[in-house]
Amino acid sequence: MSRNLFFSVFLFFVLLCVTTSCSQAIASQSEFALATVCTITLYDKGKPQVYRDIFNRIREIENRMSVHIQGSDADRINKSAGIEAVKVHDDVFEVIERALYYAEMSGGAFDPTVGPLVSLWDIGSEQPRVPSQTEIDQVLPLIDWQQVELNQESKTVFLKKPGMALDLGAIAKGYAADEAAAIIRQERIPRAIIDLGGNIVAVGEKPDKTLWRIGIQNPLDIRGAHIGIVQVREKTVVTSGVYERFFEADGKQYHHIFSPFDGYPAANGLLSATIIADASMDADALSTAAFVMGYEKARLLIESLEGAAGIFVFEDLSICITRDVDFILSDDDFWVAVD
Ligand code: ADP
Ligand code: MG
Repeated sequence: MSRNLFFSVFLFFVLLCVTTSCSQAIASQSEFALATVCTITLYDKGKPQVYRDIFNRIREIENRMSVHIQGSDADRINKSAGIEAVKVHDDVFEVIERALYYAEMSGGAFDPTVGPLVSLWDIGSEQPRVPSQTEIDQVLPLIDWQQVELNQESKTVFLKKPGMALDLGAIAKGYAADEAAAIIRQERIPRAIIDLGGNIVAVGEKPDKTLWRIGIQNPLDIRGAHIGIVQVREKTVVTSGVYERFFEADGKQYHHIFSPFDGYPAANGLLSATIIADASMDADALSTAAFVMGYEKARLLIESLEGAAGIFVFEDLSICITRDVDFILSDDDFWVAVD
């Protein structure tokens, strides 16, 4: 073996050892949490400890905010409805405060007190069902965000009417995604993609400085089939749609986003509403709000908010886009309407 060749082989093994042992980089990690598949992709510095920290934080948030976990703050608030105020963790207080802000801003289309409706339809369980009109009429008076009392000093939450119940399913994933992004920035990881069941945050920028390309789910196709992509930098992209959770009865599809006004799955010609914004908690609340409000009202709301934009997909396969969105259509069954 020539000296040069020997040196090259030696160098190759040294480099191999350095890249495998020093970085121990993990390209991406998926876990089931917040009732969905959560995938974190840390570029360049994907150390196992950082993945662990992120998933621990996501689970901590779930354990505080899920109404399905006995003893969680949300569960305790619901069990004390009409009885007493409940002291909660700062995380929970912050999310409920923000939820009430969006409830007001959306004229009640977004309402974190939809709990009784969600239970009545039982969507997401083994046996969802279409309730009777009498049952719906019975729970509708309990859906009222104005009956939630917050106390800033004591950090307590009180649902004033017995039978009321919070459901933070439309906002908690956004909060968790923001918290994951905070850890990534704290760890100085230059770029990452957070995907909590379609709640996406793009952190940092790609090495070649090009924009992140985030796929927009085709609401009528299998998961991962996209109608197009949005190009973003340091933004969150969140979609609420008919496809996320639904069931069929008598040849009709019923999805999981309810109109607090009539108690039925929101029906206003939309298949999905996507919000692009700076904070994922805001985008999460807004995408649900937009889906319930419908295009005309949602558009006015979104355009009044700094840094926010929307993509609306309709049942006739048309797409309406608010200003400032870099959207590239890739499925020619759909078409972008110009108004
Ligand atoms: P997903 O969780 O599927 O990504 P959303 O963020 O739109 O979609 O949240 C939908 C969930 O929010 C429902 O499963 C339910 O728990 C709750 N929810 C349903 N309707 C409303 C509403 N009008 N306002 C607030 N939360 C709602
Ligand atoms: Mg939402």
